[in-house]
Amino acid sequence: MGLAEIGTKLRAAEAAAGRAAGSVTLIAVSKVQPLERVVAVLEQGHRVFGENYVQEAAGKWPDLRAQFGKVELHMIGPLQTNKAKVAVDLFDAIHTVDRPSLAEKLARLAQERGRCPQLFVQVNTGEEPQKAGVLPAEVDAFLVTCRGMDLPIAGLMCIPPEGEDSTPHFAALAGMAARNGLAGLSMGMSGDFEAAVAAGATHVRVGSAIFGARSYA
Ligand SMILES: *Cc1c(COP(=O)(O)O)cnc(C)c1O
Repeated sequence: MGLAEIGTKLRAAEAAAGRAAGSVTLIAVSKVQPLERVVAVLEQGHRVFGENYVQEAAGKWPDLRAQFGKVELHMIGPLQTNKAKVAVDLFDAIHTVDRPSLAEKLARLAQERGRCPQLFVQVNTGEEPQKAGVLPAEVDAFLVTCRGMDLPIAGLMCIPPEGEDSTPHFAALAGMAARNGLAGLSMGMSGDFEAAVAAGATHVRVGSAIFGARSYA
């Protein structure tokens, strides 16, 4: 596929859902991709990227930003509390706020800096034991906790269970966001971003369909 084709499909999904063209942010997920593929997408003019690992992102993006100018960076992987400081200085958004200890750390860093990345709370909609995220039954209380710390929560994020239909998970996440007055919905990946847009996604996170398959070798 590639960036142009995904862009076309995204515009079509927006139109089909009655959403304005360009209203969904396309996050190009560049984790573990060879640098030349990332550069190729930058050269096509794309400026919104997602990364899963703080260390990998910190090793790559300062140089790329120096070369290509302003790039909006989204942290979409699990965030260890001891990497929160580096993450806050590197990323424009963090999609994986999932526990009080991390929220506290982010609140402290935000206070020191007088600014905070845009934040999303990750929800474990499939209630999978191995997966990060707040359980659906705990979302409302966790949001109250975050708001009590003055954290700017923009919305919710989910990764539906593999091999399952994503649609009910997207609908559930949209319901949780709506009842908590949150506008942001980070959901949808290479295989299901069109369904996510239909369900109200504001941010889709697309990796392999833009860059090609990841190799972890
Ligand atoms: C890797 C990753 C993606 C991108 O996955 P693709 O299937 O390659 O599009 C999206 N979201 C998260 C949280 C990821 O870890």
